[in-house]
Amino acid sequence: MTSDTKAGTARRGLMFVLSSPSGAGKSTISRALLKDPEIVLSVSVTTRERRPSEIDGVHYKFISVRQFQALRDQNELLEWAVVHGNFYGTPCGPVEDALADGRDVLFDIDYQGTQQLSEAARVDVVSVFILPPSMAELRARLERRAEDSDAVIAERLENAHEEIDHWDEYDYVLINDNLDETFHKVESILAAERLRRERSVGLGQFIERLKAER
Ligand code: ADP
Ligand code: 5GP
Repeated sequence: MTSDTKAGTARRGLMFVLSSPSGAGKSTISRALLKDPEIVLSVSVTTRERRPSEIDGVHYKFISVRQFQALRDQNELLEWAVVHGNFYGTPCGPVEDALADGRDVLFDIDYQGTQQLSEAARVDVVSVFILPPSMAELRARLERRAEDSDAVIAERLENAHEEIDHWDEYDYVLINDNLDETFHKVESILAAERLRRERSVGLGQFIERLKAER
């Protein structure tokens, strides 16, 4: 729990979800957000191939289908889904540890995972959906990123419509045209959500003490 020692108050950690069609910019925004030491990334497991720039254990844990099925069947995943034909899932342990340690946890997961997290812990989940300014720009970003084959890019563009259809299940929806502006909005959402009354622990006692002062 993050505490304000002077007031004797603290707050519960929150689960901050970023989703978007592939290429809209959520990994870029996540990277910038993780400079804040109060939030840690939930590193997912996946069966998809590692991209050249990715580091095993940092961006994802890359595992086999068999290993994935074992984790899933032993209930070690907080949520999981098939996205673009690959398995992705969130291991429970690190998330529970981080929240118990008073940190917020950042999730880069799709709408299916967001639905599952919200079912399990709605009050602790804050979800943000990132849209591209246009489909042409989405394609251009996927091409500029140059980490996926043409076939993979085509599949991701194909799936973008299905992802976008879930925009209204999110607490916040942002159009990522200018990156700095979008990042500033995401930071502002996180800052405000951290201050919500429902996340405060000990505020009632603080108010009692305040009122008892003469
Ligand atoms: P996602 O994680 O949603 O798949 P990325 O964060 O990898 O997307 O972004 C895809 C590409 O688009 C990257 O090359 C990134 O640098 C670029 N990008 C992200 N946001 C913007 C933006 N607002 N304007 C221009 N390019 C952007
Ligand atoms: P990518 O292959 O581009 O890294 O991710 C593809 C999609 O899978 C993205 O929408 C990403 O948010 C989603 N994803 C990544 N990890 C997880 C996860 O653990 N669970 C779920 N449900 N989706 C994930």
